[in-house]
Amino acid sequence: MNEFRNYPLNEWILKAIDDLGYQTPTPVQQQTIPLLLEQDTDVIALAQTGTGKTAAFGIPMLQKIDIKSRITQALIIAPTRELCLQISNDIKDLSKHQRDNINVVAVYGGANIETQIKQIKQGCQIIAATPGRLVDLIDRKVVKLAEIRILVLDEADEMLNMGFKEDIDYIIEQTSQQKQTWLFSATMPNEVARIAKNYMYNAVEISVGNKNAAASNIQHIFYTINQNKHRYLALKRIIDYSPDVFGIIFCRTKIDTQRVADMLIKDGYSADALHGDLSQAQRDFVMKRFRNKSIQLLIATDVAARGIDVDNITHVINYDLPDDLEVYTHRSGRTARAGKSGISVAIVTSSEARKIKDLEKFAKTKFHRSLIPTGIQVCEKQLLHLVDKIKETAVDEENIKDFLPLVLERLESLSKEELIKKLVWEEFSRFYTYYQNAPDINNMKDVDVSSHRQSVRLFLNLGEMDGFNWQSLKDYVSDVTSIPNAFIKNMDVKKSFSFFEVSPGDLDKAMRMNDGHFNNRAVKLQKAETVKKEGGSGGGGGRKSSGFGKRRSSSDQKPRSRNRSRSY
Ligand code: AMP
Repeated sequence: MNEFRNYPLNEWILKAIDDLGYQTPTPVQQQTIPLLLEQDTDVIALAQTGTGKTAAFGIPMLQKIDIKSRITQALIIAPTRELCLQISNDIKDLSKHQRDNINVVAVYGGANIETQIKQIKQGCQIIAATPGRLVDLIDRKVVKLAEIRILVLDEADEMLNMGFKEDIDYIIEQTSQQKQTWLFSATMPNEVARIAKNYMYNAVEISVGNKNAAASNIQHIFYTINQNKHRYLALKRIIDYSPDVFGIIFCRTKIDTQRVADMLIKDGYSADALHGDLSQAQRDFVMKRFRNKSIQLLIATDVAARGIDVDNITHVINYDLPDDLEVYTHRSGRTARAGKSGISVAIVTSSEARKIKDLEKFAKTKFHRSLIPTGIQVCEKQLLHLVDKIKETAVDEENIKDFLPLVLERLESLSKEELIKKLVWEEFSRFYTYYQNAPDINNMKDVDVSSHRQSVRLFLNLGEMDGFNWQSLKDYVSDVTSIPNAFIKNMDVKKSFSFFEVSPGDLDKAMRMNDGHFNNRAVKLQKAETVKKEGGSGGGGGRKSSGFGKRRSSSDQKPRSRNRSRSY
């Protein structure tokens, strides 16, 4: 049974929740929904974006409003037009089985105010508004705050960051004392605390995670570059090492944002810029392309990226770290939404590295230092990605069958091996040519190289027979153990078992795999030394060397000891 059915909600809301596919309330929903259904109370909820906070206030709001009345009873204030639209759409989805009776209007700057006034005057129970436009509508006496019973301040910290302090004070001061205020904020800076203190009464505090804390399903990684001029090269390596990246790259200024985007586009990446010097129409166009994944990389300023809510973002890359620590939490919160995991990356020079320490304290999270992949590592990753892609390509037999005899005739003289080599090289040579002599750009001064080189080799009783290849097994191990993917090394998948390496510090986390099951089989993980013999009897089927290992140029990376598996 859908767990939302445990709450005393109208059937039409429950039906909409079913349609949306929500089965289990998220942690913030578990704390807010029953509370707000039962009590008329003020609430301060510390919740990141992506935690399901819109439904956390939207569901009790819909249950509480009087749908027979067309008077505006609930008002949501949010920092950006994007977010207002998102909220109003989410609430419309939740009220879809009452479409004729419930009206939700989004109002925000930059759009025709007359149209918005008309919509409000037609009667709407719920308004989602940006502060500036709302003040305008209040001054024109279109929105009457005296009737509001529920006021939601969404992303309160962002609104205050963006300079809406006076507008928010003005709005709240005009609302009636009878209303309930529900404040949602990812962080709790003094300004938000001041709003809570001045305007809220006996508010119940709800927190999913720590104050200011970064979400826990995000892996925080930083790379230290030698010199500032290597920043762009490092960015490219990081991107190239993650062929399926779908991410946002944050820069500090509009000029940097455009410059980095231009360079990436020139270098053949699927990228575009988002910043305040673009017109609203241009920004909408870029966002549309990013949202439908026509572009892989969005290079953005903090202001332009506010309120961006795109699912499945794999990476947030801090091209520069922000001055304000809170901004980092907002940036990284763009990934790992709706229970997914994500990676937040920072590129720093050694003089900026102390900021990482400050961030660790502030966001109460651990950053892992990672080494910028060498050119050869990037090549290997890309090559294997290409091979996997070829392997997984679904061929449209029907459409290719007429051409196939011709193609086969032309390729007849080639052996399978020659054919594979040519096919792969055709695609891959561009990468190899670019990267073969690429220098190491890591700053190694403060790295304890010996500790990086030390690793523990582990044996795992899962392999190809369980449907894994090296990449998917790495992902699986990372998911189960919370060890960042980048720290699971030398994954070597055999038929029925595998080997991989982790740093000694991650050993305890890795051992968590022993508590689990895969396809009804108990998962067994142990140090490889203790299973030398066992491993020796297996063999075959593992990932073959790409042949690039010998040409590895950098000596400071831990060499991948591909042959080592043979000794087992
Ligand atoms: P939000 O934090 O409101 O922006 O929500 C983030 C994402 O989580 C949205 O795509 C929602 O549709 C989704 N979501 C919200 N609540 C649930 C739930 N209980 N189960 C599954 N997905 C949800």
